[in-house]
Amino acid sequence: MAKIDELQTCLAHKGLDAAYISDPMTIGYLTGFYEDPIERVMALLVFPDSEPFLFTPALEVEAAKGAGWTHPVYGYLDHEDAYALIAAHVKKQVTEPVNWGIEQNHLTVSRLLKLQNQFPSAKFNTDLTSTIEQMRLIKSDDEIAKLNEAGKWADFMLEEGFKNLQLGRSEQEIAANLEYELKKHGIMHTSFDTLVQAGAHAAEPHGATSQRKINNNELVLFDLGCVVDGYCSDVSRTVAIGTLNKKQKEIYKVCLEAQLAAQEAAKPGITAEELDKVARDVISKAGYGEYFIHRLGHGLGLSDHEFPSIMEGNHLVLQPGMCFSIEPGIYIPGIAGVRIEDCVHITSDGCEPFTHTNKALKTFELM
Ligand code: MN
Repeated sequence: MAKIDELQTCLAHKGLDAAYISDPMTIGYLTGFYEDPIERVMALLVFPDSEPFLFTPALEVEAAKGAGWTHPVYGYLDHEDAYALIAAHVKKQVTEPVNWGIEQNHLTVSRLLKLQNQFPSAKFNTDLTSTIEQMRLIKSDDEIAKLNEAGKWADFMLEEGFKNLQLGRSEQEIAANLEYELKKHGIMHTSFDTLVQAGAHAAEPHGATSQRKINNNELVLFDLGCVVDGYCSDVSRTVAIGTLNKKQKEIYKVCLEAQLAAQEAAKPGITAEELDKVARDVISKAGYGEYFIHRLGHGLGLSDHEFPSIMEGNHLVLQPGMCFSIEPGIYIPGIAGVRIEDCVHITSDGCEPFTHTNKALKTFELM
């Protein structure tokens, strides 16, 4: 069933007369048209029993039609009252919509008030956020193909990053160079700011790529990804420069063991919490439990962080089509950080990664 039909059925079940979908990511998911309207108004109006329509800035109408959306697209000019126009189009479909579904995590209060103003007796009480999250949780074959393609380009970014390693070169320079290579191939967006962190800097898991220069005998952590056809990739690898000491080697070995154990254990039937514990147990048994300070993974798809969350307390049972990261890390403040990550999709009897860069410790002897 097309996703838009699925949502229509769901509105009927919930007894809703209309839905106002405003998150550009949801609109992309349901229509195939991905665009950030910045401050302009863009919305998808969906009804249980009549035809949905897309409402966009006039300058986006042709692009929306070209994206494969087969239902009507209506535009508005900057000087026009977008909400009055939306109301007029809605009333052609449903004379008096009372119960509305909205995306509470996206629609701003000021925009909701403008909508309410057009439909004074309507109720905007139903939040569709979790309904849409549930729909997005299981990826179709087509979505998985796009995630595989994005993963292929993430592998390419890593390869370019490794080629760029040089003593005295900064983390930022390496990140810039690998992104430049990616963009020359027509992939214009990264999933998030490319992370290159060397030595002790990598022990700050959310620290940014800095001016710090690459030195000998340290670990360098790469965490990066790109967007292909609207879908994100996300991969992390940590590599060695020169000769590592015992501690550096040990944390790499333990982190890899945890990552492989979790990737092996990821299959239908295991819960998100249990999977997190598989990796956490390996790290805890080796004595580094206190240095693994985040959940094992997050979902990915149209966004680089979505459901399911692979963490303690999440009893969700994993099913085929769920896509998420497996990314244990060990961060010892002032010493070093290691993270190894592949994103995977659950198959009928296990999981398949979207990225394939080798995970055995790679050592670079640089001059
Ligand atoms: Mn990640």
